[in-house]
Amino acid sequence: MSALRETFLEELADLYNAEKQLLKALPKMAKAAEHGQLQEAFEEHLEQTREHVTRLEQVFKIFGKAAKGKTCKAMEGLIEEGEDLIEKEEGDAALICAAQKVEHYEIASYGSLLAWAKLLEEQRAAQLLQQTLNEEKITDKNLTQIAESAANVDDNEEEGEEEETSSSRRSR
Ligand code: FE
Ligand code: FE
Repeated sequence: MSALRETFLEELADLYNAEKQLLKALPKMAKAAEHGQLQEAFEEHLEQTREHVTRLEQVFKIFGKAAKGKTCKAMEGLIEEGEDLIEKEEGDAALICAAQKVEHYEIASYGSLLAWAKLLEEQRAAQLLQQTLNEEKITDKNLTQIAESAANVDDNEEEGEEEETSSSRRSR
């Protein structure tokens, strides 16, 4: 096996595990989001993430391998930071920041895998990776747009409103 093929499969296993970690984390982030638009964004990306996992399984198959993850420590760390923010009720702005760090990590991984799939002349695998990469980039842009608009503005307006707790906002 060529060295690049091995590197590809290593990174594929890392990313497969990372996406699966996200399947568990995204529902928590959606639940913690105060603003409806952000909640929807997380829920929509959860649906996409299920497909990301399926696509990676297809890529494993193309390479003649059984889908098997390898603990992605970076994603563990990113998710752990996100959970800390949720625990401290830091609010939507912080949640968006945590989510964008995750998207950028994924974009880096998919970008590398895509480049290698092309070099290895695995066109079908490249197509699948490109599809997911596009969705990660759109998600990142969408989060930027939310960060620049409603979520943060609402947060500022709510300062000084002592009566309303974040849990009562969520239950609306
Ligand atoms: Fe993903
Ligand atoms: Fe993602």
